[in-house]
Amino acid sequence: MWVYLNDRFVPREEAVVSVFDHGFLYGDGVYETMRAYRGRVFLLEKHLARLERSAERLQLRMPIPREHLADLVRASIERNRLQEAYVRVTVSRGAGEIGLDPALCKTPTLVIIAKAFLPYPDSFYSEGISIAIVQTRRNLPEALPPDVKSLNFLNNILAKMEAIAVGAYEGVMLNHRDELTEGTTSNLFVVQNGRLCTPARECGILDGLTRGVVLQLADELKIPTEETRLYVEHLYGAEECFLTNTTHEVLPVTKANSRPVGNGRPGPITSRLRASFQTSLNGLLERT
Ligand code: PLP
Repeated sequence: MWVYLNDRFVPREEAVVSVFDHGFLYGDGVYETMRAYRGRVFLLEKHLARLERSAERLQLRMPIPREHLADLVRASIERNRLQEAYVRVTVSRGAGEIGLDPALCKTPTLVIIAKAFLPYPDSFYSEGISIAIVQTRRNLPEALPPDVKSLNFLNNILAKMEAIAVGAYEGVMLNHRDELTEGTTSNLFVVQNGRLCTPARECGILDGLTRGVVLQLADELKIPTEETRLYVEHLYGAEECFLTNTTHEVLPVTKANSRPVGNGRPGPITSRLRASFQTSLNGLLERT
């Protein structure tokens, strides 16, 4: 396996960063997770644009221009001879003296990891997965904005640990107003009276790229959509529920806090959107 580190490809064993890197010391940095199908990256431009937006919010200088980074992402897939791939791009503040001032770090660290994508079990999609509403609240947007995809992931990790402890696959967090926000690495959707609802961006979420695609597909399928404030009661009363993210695509949820969602089976709207996502994939893969 070859990893791109700063300015070259190195073997996995040599892909190490300094213990003085502020990404390691303080979680000071940003990242993106992408997926390639048949060697082509899904929504590459949008991922890189979001990476830049996240970096900008942290006043973190991107080490190279977007086009160059796009070439390196493609090169990482080729170099590792991958077709179905998972790609993670990380940019950290870089190595510097201990201290919070970003000016202590002269050069950002860039890492690109491309590895084979291991499909999830079929049962995830045929049976659905379980979620737990966890006690850990989503970060306040005024404290650590959830729409910045930063290396500071403890909020999500605490929530994930809670979910694991109760045997749930994903943990869903509320915000400080008791509104549903999102999963630890996923966006949340519920179907109510045939309407597809998802927490609005103002609730404090990462504006997932898969979320955006699914909202657009729903429009095309004439399924009414709403970005709104949702509460736990909406989840309990939902006809259907699913999660979205880059690696899971559209993932049915059939249990929430150990209760069945709807009739306890993946619902028809979820299945339509999943099918439509699969068919539209081709058009959304970048052309190389
Ligand atoms: N919400 C959080 C907190 C995430 O970390 C992710 C992705 O990892 C998502 C939502 C889904 O985003 P995307 O669809 O762009 O993968």
